[in-house]
Amino acid sequence: MDMIDPFGRRITYLRVSVTDRCDFRCTYCMAEDMTFLPKRDLLSLEELDRLCTVFIQKGVKKLRLTGGEPLVRKNVMHLVRELSRHLKSGALEELTLTTNGSQLARFASELADYGVKRINVSLDTLDPGKFHQITRWGHLDKVMAGIDAAQAAGLKVKLNAVALKGFNDEEIPEMLRWAHGRGMDLTLIETMPMGEIDADRTDQYLPLSLMRARLERQFTLRDIPYKTGGPARYVEVAETGGRLGFITPMTHNFCESCNRVRLTCTGTLYMCLGQEDAADLRAPLRASEGDELVSKAIDEAIGRKPKGHDFVIDRRTNRPSVARHMSVTGG
Ligand code: SAM
Ligand code: SF4
Repeated sequence: MDMIDPFGRRITYLRVSVTDRCDFRCTYCMAEDMTFLPKRDLLSLEELDRLCTVFIQKGVKKLRLTGGEPLVRKNVMHLVRELSRHLKSGALEELTLTTNGSQLARFASELADYGVKRINVSLDTLDPGKFHQITRWGHLDKVMAGIDAAQAAGLKVKLNAVALKGFNDEEIPEMLRWAHGRGMDLTLIETMPMGEIDADRTDQYLPLSLMRARLERQFTLRDIPYKTGGPARYVEVAETGGRLGFITPMTHNFCESCNRVRLTCTGTLYMCLGQEDAADLRAPLRASEGDELVSKAIDEAIGRKPKGHDFVIDRRTNRPSVARHMSVTGG
């Protein structure tokens, strides 16, 4: 039976955070001394596969692995291989992942072997020093090698960059030319107020309406109806022939067409990225070998999917809209 929420939105997209751990500490995402979940609280890869399979039986067509950094979860390729059976059967249309790229050189060809066709790589700057500054622990050369390996393996790569005032806004035109020159789309994301970080988000926040206006001084941007099943709105850049996406949770509310829910590595289901309400699927999953209990718990959760988020970033509201970090639900 398909999953349809109270606002008539059909849920066809599941994002799964397979770990909350990461080998980077991006300043807008995490504090440097993050406390992670104890390993015993994690679902096993078999349990994650079982839960994903129930969602696929209930109408999920697109599944994205994320994190934390999905490629640092031990044996994550086992899960990718298991899930690929749903691609073969035709039940699942797309299996994909969002990664920081640090481990891609190792895993790119295996991902392609298991039927992954497109991946998103998060990259906020092309400058090695700035890259190290924003990720705290990351090295740009590794990510570049990962992107090379992914393209060599035939994976279509899309870049995601968080637009950060005074950090990478000047560099976006150069990143755009570089990405499009290599056949990669680029999507810009507004910072969202999720979780306590060491910095002040008001200083980082850059509305993309402003960024777009600035880009239009150098580039000819044409709105196009292109959709990837996500909230990005795309333009075509005449000068490069490539696509540029804007994800604008802060300046434009896209919740009306939301088709997704998010599962964490502990089996918690979040019906909205910007709300606290969640449903525990681990207990019903473990309570019986059959899937009836968990299927019922999913239906109940979808039955209370909220209409939308209420993100605010301003000087008066200088605290996260939701307490959990992006690394819990994976963006
Ligand atoms: N580690 C992987 C990566 O970085 O691609 C996957 C998880 S990461 C949480 C997913 C995406 O969320 C990344 O593109 C990251 O830049 C973005 N992100 C993290 N914190 C954010 C925030 N507070 N606001 C907007 N985007 C954020
Ligand atoms: Fe890790 Fe991704 Fe968060 Fe950066 S954005 S700290 S890579 S989870």
